[in-house]
Amino acid sequence: MIDNIEHRVKKLRDELNQHNYNYYVLDKPTISDYDFDLKLKELEKLEAEYPEFSDSNSPTKRVGGEITKNFNTVVHKNRMYSLDNSYSKEDILDWEKRIEKNLGSEEVEFVCELKYDGASINLSYENGILQRAVTRGDGYQGDDVTANIKTIRSIPLVLKGNLIDDFEIRGEVILPLDGFKKMNMERIEAGEDPYMNPRNTASGSLKLQDSAEVAKRPLDCLLYQVVAAKNPNKTHFEALEMAQKLGFKIPTTLKICSTIDDVFSFIDHWDTRRFDLPYETDGVVIKVNSLAQQDELGYTAKSPRWAIAYKYKAEQVSTILKEITYQVGRTGAITPVANLEPVQLAGTVVKRASLHNADQIEKLDVRIGDTVFVEKGGEIIPKIVGVDLSKRPKDSEPTKYITHCPDCDTELVRAEGDAKHFCPNEYGCPTQITGRIQHFISRKAMNIDGLGSETVELLFKEGLIHNYADLYELKEEQIVPLERMAEKSAKNIIEGIKKSKEVPFEKVLFALGIRFVGETVAKKLAKYFKSIDNLLQASFEELISVDEIGDIIAKSIINFSVNPINIELIDRLKLYGVQMEVTAESQIGKTAILQGKTFVVSGVFAHFERNDLKKSIEDNGGKVASSISKKTDYVVAGDNMGPSKRTKAEDLGIPIISETDYLKMIG
Ligand code: AMP
Ligand code: ZN
Repeated sequence: MIDNIEHRVKKLRDELNQHNYNYYVLDKPTISDYDFDLKLKELEKLEAEYPEFSDSNSPTKRVGGEITKNFNTVVHKNRMYSLDNSYSKEDILDWEKRIEKNLGSEEVEFVCELKYDGASINLSYENGILQRAVTRGDGYQGDDVTANIKTIRSIPLVLKGNLIDDFEIRGEVILPLDGFKKMNMERIEAGEDPYMNPRNTASGSLKLQDSAEVAKRPLDCLLYQVVAAKNPNKTHFEALEMAQKLGFKIPTTLKICSTIDDVFSFIDHWDTRRFDLPYETDGVVIKVNSLAQQDELGYTAKSPRWAIAYKYKAEQVSTILKEITYQVGRTGAITPVANLEPVQLAGTVVKRASLHNADQIEKLDVRIGDTVFVEKGGEIIPKIVGVDLSKRPKDSEPTKYITHCPDCDTELVRAEGDAKHFCPNEYGCPTQITGRIQHFISRKAMNIDGLGSETVELLFKEGLIHNYADLYELKEEQIVPLERMAEKSAKNIIEGIKKSKEVPFEKVLFALGIRFVGETVAKKLAKYFKSIDNLLQASFEELISVDEIGDIIAKSIINFSVNPINIELIDRLKLYGVQMEVTAESQIGKTAILQGKTFVVSGVFAHFERNDLKKSIEDNGGKVASSISKKTDYVVAGDNMGPSKRTKAEDLGIPIISETDYLKMIG
């Protein structure tokens, strides 16, 4: 029986590893997401029931959950060098000459790779199993970010086959452009500032404390160097081929070049084609292919002599700045936008560029009439990176940032620590009003079919709606006479609005558009507070005691709840029958036994996966906190509970209970 279980666990892990590989490395899934989830759930269940078979490299560990407060510093076994940079073909010819001088008359073969733009990482494997992942740091020592790295699905936790003894492999953790844009869309929807670029977001992700957050980010890892005391390969190219067989993601763009002219062709080819790639690159890395020759060439104080980076000039054009306009967002945030003389850039015509905020304008000292340099990166719209001062008109004047809202003429405010100016006229500023309604009806919120952004603007302009509650009072006969409306579309709108009354509370909460309450936060809050009344009556302390709710979100909720306008809107929504609490259906299996009690969970458990234990606590009305404090009521301790946590609990006199005690507690 037990043998059978062990066998099943192993089989599931092998299958899931293979499916992860097919999906994330080969990009060729052979199973539906649904079937994948079924297998993953089965494995999770078996691992929970039979903890003797648990394994920190199981595919179930990809979702993260481990919290790292301080990342350990680790000294690299082999130093992680920088690369020398070159900006011209002459630089590369010089490099080739230096190599020839060092190696004498030997033939030299090169490998060209793209320079992937992300954060470098060093992965160590022993006996085919990932041991540790460390950032480059200063090249001598970096941070241990293993828990976070394990969530990146394209990095194998267990290798396929046994082609090499213990070794290290280096690569770049990147955030592909699609994923980056999607993350930014979600941030904008939640009223947060979008991230500046994929590279910083990728490296920032590696240092997040909660690996479950990292798991949600669509990170990827491209590998570019095998480092081994006993490398069974003769060339760099073969070593990467071997790595590919072991399950690593090696880009297919790399190429062996036997002459320096081939190298130049590679550089020219990718100069334009790199914009078709799903991720950002800022150059090419040229390496000597023979590992023996690499050894012979060795290193300078800073970088290998056997490799050089060629940096592309960022795709940049200059054009004239005609006007700066200011956009008002749904939350009142003001974004300055540069309106440009249209110009070709990386295959598209650019007419507008982002200027981000007042500081940015001041820093660049951009003025109307200036000739500006525009660059394209991973951002949604291009950005201005500088001014050609030689072309500045004599009569030019420094840009004065607007002081009043372009939409409602209210004086703008800028809170300390905020990069942006805001229009404080939340309930009178037309763009904010329509923006809020547009957010309310959007797909991830109330998902009101038949009603689009333009219709919202029209309804507002016609004075039929002033806020989202008004939607529920709309009548078909009010809509029909409007421009471009027919009976059928009016009917659809009314139907869609009616149907939205079934949308569950967590989505309604997101739809309300409370600043910083995005989709995920709304879910957390709905689950914890269960109803809008509980949420809006919660104190600041209670709000921040909820897992993952910090000061900023708590303050924003309080701001919302003290405003009588919001209370009236919510009362009206209730009256119309919009879901303002969690329904009984979704409450099944939930109790209030642990109401008011705060738990900290530590160690490994026999009966529960750690996340399931947390869920169980919350389902029974308790709270889960991530660290022990005076406010903690119980610490549930499993095997291997951290010694510092134990001491802290003992010092504060907080009861440490076992998993069995906990099970008794909830009956
Ligand atoms: P730099 O940071 O300019 O000194 O460049 C060195 C960095 O380039 C390395 O630390 C890697 O993170 C990164 N890199 C990106 N792609 C490659 C590649 N194909 N080969 C080597 N290094 C690369
Ligand atoms: Zn305004």
